[in-house]
Amino acid sequence: MKLYSNLTILLLAVFLVSGASCTAKEKKVQQSVPAVEAVDEEAVRIASIVVSRLPDNMQGNILDNMDSFKADLARVMAEESRFFIIADKSHLLTEDYNPGELVSLDGKGIKVNKKGMKLEKVTFEALKKMIDDSAKEGLSLMVSSAYRDYRYQVGLYNYYISKYGKEKTDTFSAPPGASQHQLGTVVDFNDVENTFAGTKEERWLTENAWKYGFSLSFPKGYEDVTGYDWESWHFRYVTKAGAEFQKKYFDNIQHYMLLFLDSYRN
Ligand SMILES: [Zn+2]
Repeated sequence: MKLYSNLTILLLAVFLVSGASCTAKEKKVQQSVPAVEAVDEEAVRIASIVVSRLPDNMQGNILDNMDSFKADLARVMAEESRFFIIADKSHLLTEDYNPGELVSLDGKGIKVNKKGMKLEKVTFEALKKMIDDSAKEGLSLMVSSAYRDYRYQVGLYNYYISKYGKEKTDTFSAPPGASQHQLGTVVDFNDVENTFAGTKEERWLTENAWKYGFSLSFPKGYEDVTGYDWESWHFRYVTKAGAEFQKKYFDNIQHYMLLFLDSYRN
Protein backbone atom coordinates (compact mmCIF):
# COMPACT_ATOMS: atom_id res chain seq x y z
CA MET A 1 0.00 0.00 0.00
CA LYS A 2 2.99 2.24 0.61
CA LEU A 3 3.73 2.18 -3.10
CA TYR A 4 0.33 3.50 -4.01
CA SER A 5 0.29 6.19 -1.37
CA ASN A 6 3.68 7.45 -2.55
CA LEU A 7 2.56 7.28 -6.14
CA THR A 8 -0.50 9.30 -5.28
CA ILE A 9 1.62 11.97 -3.60
CA LEU A 10 3.98 12.13 -6.58
CA LEU A 11 1.19 12.32 -9.11
CA LEU A 12 -0.44 15.05 -7.06
CA ALA A 13 2.90 16.83 -6.99
CA VAL A 14 3.24 16.50 -10.79
CA PHE A 15 -0.23 17.98 -11.10
CA LEU A 16 0.62 20.89 -8.81
CA VAL A 17 3.94 21.69 -10.46
CA SER A 18 2.41 21.48 -13.90
CA GLY A 19 0.26 24.44 -12.87
CA ALA A 20 3.37 26.62 -13.12
CA SER A 21 1.96 28.64 -15.99
CA CYS A 22 -0.76 30.22 -13.88
CA THR A 23 -1.27 33.96 -13.44
CA ALA A 24 0.55 35.95 -10.78
CA LYS A 25 -2.59 36.17 -8.70
CA GLU A 26 -3.14 32.42 -8.81
CA LYS A 27 0.51 31.88 -7.97
CA LYS A 28 0.18 33.98 -4.86
CA VAL A 29 -2.74 31.90 -3.71
CA GLN A 30 -0.87 28.65 -4.44
CA GLN A 31 2.20 29.78 -2.55
CA SER A 32 0.16 30.42 0.54
CA VAL A 33 -0.78 26.73 0.70
CA PRO A 34 1.89 24.91 2.75
CA ALA A 35 1.50 21.61 0.84
CA VAL A 36 2.64 23.27 -2.38
CA GLU A 37 5.78 24.68 -0.78
CA ALA A 38 6.67 21.19 0.45
CA VAL A 39 6.74 19.71 -3.06
CA ASP A 40 10.09 18.14 -3.83
CA GLU A 41 10.54 19.24 -7.44
CA GLU A 42 13.53 16.96 -7.92
CA ALA A 43 11.45 13.96 -6.86
CA VAL A 44 8.65 15.05 -9.17
CA ARG A 45 11.03 15.31 -12.11
CA ILE A 46 12.53 11.91 -11.37
CA ALA A 47 9.08 10.39 -10.99
CA SER A 48 7.88 11.75 -14.32
CA ILE A 49 10.93 10.29 -16.12
CA VAL A 50 10.52 6.96 -14.34
CA VAL A 51 6.84 6.72 -15.21
CA SER A 52 7.37 7.69 -18.86
CA ARG A 53 10.58 5.75 -19.65
CA LEU A 54 10.69 2.60 -17.51
CA PRO A 55 8.58 -0.56 -17.50
CA ASP A 56 5.84 -0.75 -14.85
CA ASN A 57 7.56 -3.41 -12.76
CA MET A 58 10.64 -1.20 -12.33
CA GLN A 59 8.83 1.93 -11.21
CA GLY A 60 7.61 1.04 -7.72
CA ASN A 61 11.05 0.31 -6.32
CA ILE A 62 12.28 3.77 -7.32
CA LEU A 63 9.14 5.75 -6.41
CA ASP A 64 8.94 3.99 -3.06
CA ASN A 65 12.59 4.67 -2.15
CA MET A 66 12.96 8.16 -3.55
CA ASP A 67 15.35 9.48 -0.89
CA SER A 68 17.88 6.69 -1.29
CA PHE A 69 17.41 6.81 -5.07
CA LYS A 70 18.27 10.51 -5.10
CA ALA A 71 21.37 9.92 -2.97
CA ASP A 72 22.55 7.09 -5.23
CA LEU A 73 21.77 9.15 -8.32
CA ALA A 74 23.96 11.96 -6.98
CA ARG A 75 26.88 9.50 -6.74
CA VAL A 76 26.36 8.46 -10.35
CA MET A 77 26.10 12.07 -11.51
CA ALA A 78 29.46 12.77 -9.85
CA GLU A 79 31.09 10.35 -12.32
CA GLU A 80 32.11 11.46 -15.81
CA SER A 81 29.12 11.54 -18.12
CA ARG A 82 30.91 9.66 -20.92
CA PHE A 83 30.54 6.43 -18.93
CA PHE A 84 26.77 6.66 -19.39
CA ILE A 85 26.43 7.73 -23.02
CA ILE A 86 23.87 5.71 -24.93
CA ALA A 87 25.35 4.27 -28.11
CA ASP A 88 22.85 2.26 -30.09
CA LYS A 89 20.89 2.29 -33.34
CA SER A 90 18.83 5.28 -32.24
CA HIS A 91 21.66 7.13 -30.47
CA LEU A 92 24.60 7.23 -32.89
CA LEU A 93 28.08 8.37 -31.91
CA THR A 94 29.77 10.75 -34.33
CA GLU A 95 32.75 9.67 -36.39
CA ASP A 96 35.05 11.84 -34.26
CA TYR A 97 33.69 10.82 -30.84
CA ASN A 98 36.54 11.17 -28.33
CA PRO A 99 36.84 8.15 -26.01
CA GLY A 100 39.39 9.91 -23.78
CA GLU A 101 42.85 8.54 -23.09
CA LEU A 102 43.31 5.08 -24.58
CA VAL A 103 45.85 2.59 -23.27
CA SER A 104 47.27 -0.46 -25.05
CA LEU A 105 46.43 -3.88 -23.62
CA ASP A 106 49.76 -5.30 -24.81
CA GLY A 107 52.31 -6.22 -22.16
CA LYS A 108 49.92 -5.56 -19.28
CA GLY A 109 49.77 -9.10 -17.93
CA ILE A 110 46.31 -9.93 -19.23
CA LYS A 111 45.38 -12.49 -21.88
CA VAL A 112 44.46 -11.03 -25.26
CA ASN A 113 43.51 -12.84 -28.48
CA LYS A 114 45.32 -10.34 -30.69
CA LYS A 115 47.85 -7.54 -30.38
CA GLY A 116 47.11 -3.84 -30.72
CA MET A 117 43.87 -3.60 -28.71
CA LYS A 118 43.18 -0.51 -26.61
CA LEU A 119 40.79 0.59 -23.87
CA GLU A 120 39.88 3.84 -22.18
CA LYS A 121 42.26 4.28 -19.23
CA VAL A 122 39.83 4.16 -16.27
CA THR A 123 38.08 1.17 -17.84
CA PHE A 124 41.38 -0.60 -18.31
CA GLU A 125 42.36 -0.12 -14.67
CA ALA A 126 39.06 -1.59 -13.49
CA LEU A 127 39.37 -4.44 -15.99
CA LYS A 128 42.92 -5.26 -14.90
CA LYS A 129 41.83 -5.53 -11.27
CA MET A 130 38.83 -7.67 -12.21
CA ILE A 131 40.91 -10.05 -14.33
CA ASP A 132 43.65 -10.29 -11.68
CA ASP A 133 41.09 -11.11 -8.98
CA SER A 134 39.39 -13.71 -11.17
CA ALA A 135 42.77 -15.30 -11.93
CA LYS A 136 43.35 -15.73 -8.18
CA GLU A 137 40.29 -17.97 -8.26
CA GLY A 138 41.75 -20.01 -11.10
CA LEU A 139 39.70 -18.42 -13.87
CA SER A 140 40.89 -17.55 -17.34
CA LEU A 141 39.40 -14.38 -18.82
CA MET A 142 40.79 -13.34 -22.19
CA VAL A 143 40.05 -10.03 -23.92
CA SER A 144 38.89 -10.72 -27.47
CA SER A 145 37.70 -7.26 -28.48
CA ALA A 146 38.01 -3.80 -26.94
CA TYR A 147 37.99 -0.28 -28.43
CA ARG A 148 36.85 -0.11 -32.04
CA ASP A 149 36.83 3.21 -33.86
CA TYR A 150 34.17 4.39 -36.29
CA ARG A 151 36.12 3.45 -39.40
CA TYR A 152 36.76 -0.06 -38.11
CA GLN A 153 33.02 -0.46 -37.50
CA VAL A 154 32.29 0.70 -41.06
CA GLY A 155 34.52 -2.08 -42.40
CA LEU A 156 33.18 -4.72 -40.00
CA TYR A 157 29.52 -3.88 -40.64
CA ASN A 158 29.96 -3.86 -44.42
CA TYR A 159 31.82 -7.17 -44.28
CA TYR A 160 28.96 -8.81 -42.35
CA ILE A 161 26.38 -7.38 -44.76
CA SER A 162 28.27 -8.85 -47.72
CA LYS A 163 28.32 -12.21 -45.93
CA TYR A 164 24.90 -12.41 -44.23
CA GLY A 165 22.74 -9.65 -45.73
CA LYS A 166 21.59 -6.51 -43.91
CA GLU A 167 18.61 -7.95 -42.03
CA LYS A 168 20.58 -10.72 -40.34
CA THR A 169 23.59 -8.44 -39.79
CA ASP A 170 21.46 -5.90 -37.90
CA THR A 171 20.58 -8.48 -35.24
CA PHE A 172 24.18 -8.90 -34.13
CA SER A 173 26.37 -6.14 -35.55
CA ALA A 174 26.10 -2.42 -34.96
CA PRO A 175 26.06 0.06 -37.82
CA PRO A 176 28.84 2.68 -37.64
CA GLY A 177 28.26 4.99 -34.65
CA ALA A 178 25.94 2.50 -32.93
CA SER A 179 28.60 0.27 -31.39
CA GLN A 180 29.35 0.57 -27.68
CA HIS A 181 32.90 -0.50 -28.57
CA GLN A 182 33.49 2.98 -29.99
CA LEU A 183 33.21 4.32 -26.41
CA GLY A 184 36.44 2.55 -25.43
CA THR A 185 34.73 1.23 -22.29
CA VAL A 186 33.62 -2.19 -23.57
CA VAL A 187 35.22 -5.60 -23.50
CA ASP A 188 34.31 -8.86 -25.26
CA PHE A 189 35.58 -11.90 -23.41
CA ASN A 190 36.82 -15.30 -24.50
CA ASP A 191 34.96 -16.97 -27.39
CA VAL A 192 32.62 -14.08 -28.27
CA GLU A 193 29.90 -16.74 -28.54
CA ASN A 194 27.13 -17.76 -26.17
CA THR A 195 29.05 -20.98 -25.55
CA PHE A 196 30.65 -18.64 -22.98
CA ALA A 197 27.39 -18.73 -20.99
CA GLY A 198 27.52 -21.27 -18.19
CA THR A 199 31.34 -21.45 -18.14
CA LYS A 200 32.88 -20.75 -14.74
CA GLU A 201 34.27 -17.48 -16.11
CA GLU A 202 30.85 -16.30 -17.24
CA ARG A 203 29.23 -17.32 -13.96
CA TRP A 204 31.92 -15.45 -12.05
CA LEU A 205 31.34 -12.30 -14.14
CA THR A 206 27.59 -12.54 -13.62
CA GLU A 207 28.20 -12.67 -9.89
CA ASN A 208 31.08 -10.20 -9.57
CA ALA A 209 31.52 -7.85 -12.55
CA TRP A 210 29.35 -5.14 -10.99
CA LYS A 211 31.76 -4.86 -8.04
CA TYR A 212 34.36 -3.59 -10.52
CA GLY A 213 31.93 -1.35 -12.38
CA PHE A 214 31.12 -3.63 -15.33
CA SER A 215 27.71 -4.66 -16.58
CA LEU A 216 26.33 -6.95 -19.25
CA SER A 217 25.01 -4.78 -22.08
CA PHE A 218 22.74 -7.20 -23.96
CA PRO A 219 21.07 -9.63 -21.57
CA LYS A 220 18.96 -12.62 -22.53
CA GLY A 221 15.25 -11.84 -22.91
CA TYR A 222 15.80 -8.11 -23.58
CA GLU A 223 16.49 -8.32 -27.30
CA ASP A 224 13.55 -6.06 -28.14
CA VAL A 225 14.68 -3.49 -25.59
CA THR A 226 18.37 -3.34 -26.49
CA GLY A 227 17.98 -4.04 -30.20
CA TYR A 228 20.64 -6.75 -30.02
CA ASP A 229 20.76 -10.49 -29.55
CA TRP A 230 21.89 -11.80 -26.19
CA GLU A 231 25.68 -11.40 -25.83
CA SER A 232 26.90 -13.17 -22.70
CA TRP A 233 30.47 -12.00 -23.39
CA HIS A 234 30.02 -8.23 -23.91
CA PHE A 235 30.57 -6.09 -20.79
CA ARG A 236 30.58 -2.31 -20.49
CA TYR A 237 32.25 -0.27 -17.76
CA VAL A 238 29.65 2.00 -16.15
CA THR A 239 31.65 2.88 -13.00
CA LYS A 240 31.11 1.21 -9.63
CA ALA A 241 28.45 3.73 -8.64
CA GLY A 242 26.68 3.11 -11.95
CA ALA A 243 26.83 -0.68 -11.70
CA GLU A 244 25.42 -0.58 -8.18
CA PHE A 245 22.71 1.88 -9.23
CA GLN A 246 21.76 -0.38 -12.13
CA LYS A 247 21.56 -3.45 -9.92
CA LYS A 248 19.59 -1.73 -7.18
CA TYR A 249 16.91 0.08 -9.18
CA PHE A 250 16.90 -1.12 -12.80
CA ASP A 251 16.71 -4.91 -12.40
CA ASN A 252 20.37 -4.87 -13.47
CA ILE A 253 19.36 -3.88 -17.01
CA GLN A 254 21.94 -1.41 -18.27
CA HIS A 255 19.76 -0.08 -21.08
CA TYR A 256 17.09 1.15 -18.67
CA MET A 257 19.62 2.86 -16.42
CA LEU A 258 21.18 4.61 -19.43
CA LEU A 259 17.76 5.66 -20.71
CA PHE A 260 16.88 7.12 -17.33
CA LEU A 261 20.19 9.01 -17.02
CA ASP A 262 19.92 10.30 -20.58
CA SER A 263 16.48 11.77 -19.86
CA TYR A 264 17.57 13.08 -16.47
CA ARG A 265 20.58 14.93 -17.92
CA ASN A 266 18.69 16.44 -20.83
ZN1 LIG B 1 31.06 -6.63 -28.03
